[in-house]
Amino acid sequence: MSQRATVDFLLHDWLQAERLCQRERHTEHSRETFDAVLDLSEKMARETFAPANRVIDTEEPTFDGTQVHLPAVTPKALQTYIDAGLMAASKDADLGGMQLPTVVEMASMSFFYKASMSLAYYPMLTRGNANTILAHGTPRQIEVFAKPGFEGRTFGTMCLSEPQAGSSLSDIATRAVPDVHGDGSGTHWPQDPLGPRYRLTGNKMWISGGEHNMGENIVHLVLAKIPGEDGKTIPGVKGISLFIVPRKLVKADGSITATRNDVALAGLNHKCGNRGTVNTLLNFGEGRHAVNGQAGAVGYLVGAAGEGLKCMFTLMNEARIAVGLSATMLGYAGYDASLAYATQRPQGRKAGAGGKDHTAPQIPIIEHTDVKRMLMLQKVVAEGGLALGLLCAQLVDDDYTGTPEQREQATTLLELLTPIAKSWPSEWALEANSQAIQILGGYGYTRDFPVEQYWRDNRLNMIHEGTHGIQALDLLGRKVVMNQGHALQVFAARVQQTIAQADAVADLAPLGQSLAQALAQVQTATAQAWATGKPEEALANATPYLQAFGHLVLGWIWLELALAAHAAQAQGHWCNSPLGPGFLKGKRAAAEYFFDYELPRIPAWLVVVSQRNMTCAYAQPDWF
Ligand SMILES: Cc1cc2nc3c(=O)[nH]c(=O)nc-3n(C[C@H](O)[C@H](O)[C@H](O)COP(=O)(O)OP(=O)(O)OC[C@H]3O[C@@H](n4cnc5c(N)ncnc54)[C@H](O)[C@@H]3O)c2cc1C
Repeated sequence: MSQRATVDFLLHDWLQAERLCQRERHTEHSRETFDAVLDLSEKMARETFAPANRVIDTEEPTFDGTQVHLPAVTPKALQTYIDAGLMAASKDADLGGMQLPTVVEMASMSFFYKASMSLAYYPMLTRGNANTILAHGTPRQIEVFAKPGFEGRTFGTMCLSEPQAGSSLSDIATRAVPDVHGDGSGTHWPQDPLGPRYRLTGNKMWISGGEHNMGENIVHLVLAKIPGEDGKTIPGVKGISLFIVPRKLVKADGSITATRNDVALAGLNHKCGNRGTVNTLLNFGEGRHAVNGQAGAVGYLVGAAGEGLKCMFTLMNEARIAVGLSATMLGYAGYDASLAYATQRPQGRKAGAGGKDHTAPQIPIIEHTDVKRMLMLQKVVAEGGLALGLLCAQLVDDDYTGTPEQREQATTLLELLTPIAKSWPSEWALEANSQAIQILGGYGYTRDFPVEQYWRDNRLNMIHEGTHGIQALDLLGRKVVMNQGHALQVFAARVQQTIAQADAVADLAPLGQSLAQALAQVQTATAQAWATGKPEEALANATPYLQAFGHLVLGWIWLELALAAHAAQAQGHWCNSPLGPGFLKGKRAAAEYFFDYELPRIPAWLVVVSQRNMTCAYAQPDWF
């Protein structure tokens, strides 16, 4: 039941996160400082974010033609988060940060995602935006645009999508021309201290956090194409560059002026869920806020021209792991709510002997096997998804502060696991939310209980940050085949290590054997999908492949967690916990549930992959 206990189990019994304190970057830290941050996060999320979650759903953002209005709880809750210094938790001390390991920062975020994903998206986007400038910007851009983000003084966005270009970013039409005279004319950019200065024109759709009055400014990170001498843009992703476009113009010394940049809100999107994060259609350069008498939003190039998508991937990879974790935590919220309900709702009597005695009191529904099945599904998704998110965060730490060998392995595994970290929780935590509604029966279908909102909020996660289908193409089309399948080999070696450990523990050995079989099935299907070398055949069933691969990864994680629970029990950990022996037994039972109920789905998904089945590929539009 307690998320905090599971976070502690994952961080310490499984990931041994305290070992990170031996690395130079984290020597100031210890288990005590980790605990203090988690205590604070848990409390703040419970007391400030959670009570606001329903309000921000019912009081959608509005636009009166001039200004966006958000419920008062939104800036209030975010300010508590900012005041606690959590925006820059993992950043360098000279950026105002605490130099916490990323894995602890993500563990801290998990409480906020669970309490209110919509509120937590503001810091998530702002941090990702500032991290991208930190990775690719000039020292002045970092000082002027990233640092205020880490301080929580400004907010950040990512502006990729356009009305006509969502999944296909190569088709964006936003243009950036050099702003040589400061009035949008000329052919060469001036040496502006804030970077090569351009004027941007175009429409950006679905921009989260795109317009509001919180903070001192909004820093948009915008993808746009720079036309050549002939006025034409280069087709494809090679022509895409990245720009910083502040909502209000900023001077070279970082002071924010009162002058609006030429970025206008065209309207708000009215969403199924996730209503607390304002979502916008922005018009860049339409002339509503002309700068120096000229239409065109002032933007500063980040990184090299033509490298925009590559730079933006810093943000996108971070956001993909974060989106996966947020999906998981909505799954966790539904799990908690339906578990609490199931322990209190009396309904029916036991199956079997005595069950027909209608004078006997009814039993709480948690005693019905089918309800336990629905709780088990939610448990494996919530706790397994959290484990996957924290594992990825620790790989980010290894990538940053590990030995050269750890770094190499972390980079490779992160590339492979990112599509899974994003898509698996998006799909299965949504299903978990559906099961939470089911446990509450009719009550779950009403707005008097929170579970329907969790489902609506979570429905977003299979769509944004690369749809499910796009993640599948990335996994099977790129990640498992790049460098002659190197990433898949590295992953397989890690899985084999876990299987070898399980072999040495009598009652876990059978799970290890099932996992070995699943790994072999995925490896064989990968080879068979690509046997003809034709992408249209290999990728015809990329989504079932993604599902199978995701379940393989989670099978591996659940075996790891079963091993960690076994070791914790042997060492007497948790024996004094108020959660009792059930805590570790529950981990073990969840692993068994996953292996018995979920892992067997893998071969069924892989049949069409291995066949290179073309039923869907050959279907003609007029057959539907
Ligand atoms: C609430 C919300 C918040 C968002 N926030 C942001 C944001 O802050 N910044 C931002 O830039 N964007 C944001 N987005 C946009 C989001 O990333 C896009 O919606 C997403 O990339 C999909 O684009 P699309 O909606 O145009 O759908 P489309 O790209 O039109 O896709 C429609 C369907 O077709 C499928 N499809 C498309 N192309 C292919 C293909 N090649 N192969 C197989 N299937 C394909 C997709 O998988 C999908 O199922 C947000 C979206 C929403 C809904």
